[in-house]
Amino acid sequence: MLFLALALVEPGAANVEEHVAQLMAPYSMHLMVPEHRRECYCVNAEALAFGAVEADQEVGDRDELWNAHRARRSARETVWIGDALKQWDRVRDEAARAHPSWGRPRPQCGGCGGTGYYLSTDNPHGKWDSYYIKSVVPHVELPDDFGTYAMLAPDGQWRQPHRRTRAAYEAYWSECRSIMNAHPFHLAVVMGCHA
Ligand SMILES: [Zn+2]
Repeated sequence: MLFLALALVEPGAANVEEHVAQLMAPYSMHLMVPEHRRECYCVNAEALAFGAVEADQEVGDRDELWNAHRARRSARETVWIGDALKQWDRVRDEAARAHPSWGRPRPQCGGCGGTGYYLSTDNPHGKWDSYYIKSVVPHVELPDDFGTYAMLAPDGQWRQPHRRTRAAYEAYWSECRSIMNAHPFHLAVVMGCHA
């Protein structure tokens, strides 16, 4: 996945690249952390596959719905297909939760041996595997509606929308905006990131 991220850096920072590298470091996918348990992909896989078959039958084939979504030509079609896709997710999740294997790993899973978890040293906060700096400008020079997929605030916290919904994006953007307003002289470092 390619995405844009924005870091806010103090206006007096001697070395912007180094400052950004420090802010980015805790979120590197290459960072190794102490061994910890991670849930295996097999947990719920069977229940979700079962739910997908139910939803395909009840709401319509998901691939066809997505093709229709891509080919949509009118606002009415957009609403209709958007509702159908939401309905598909609801039916799939409901059927998956009612399936007897919900919450359980696959007993013959080669990844976890049927335990449902594996030990990993991967960074659970990893967000990027490479990035480059696209531009550095005082953030007040950015257009009012400028928004990136992720933001690194001066407090070092990584922020991004929690869900892929309009409401989640709007909440995230308004948080970004208020952080920028609180640091009126900071530089905006816009990065192209890959994950
Ligand atoms: Zn497994």
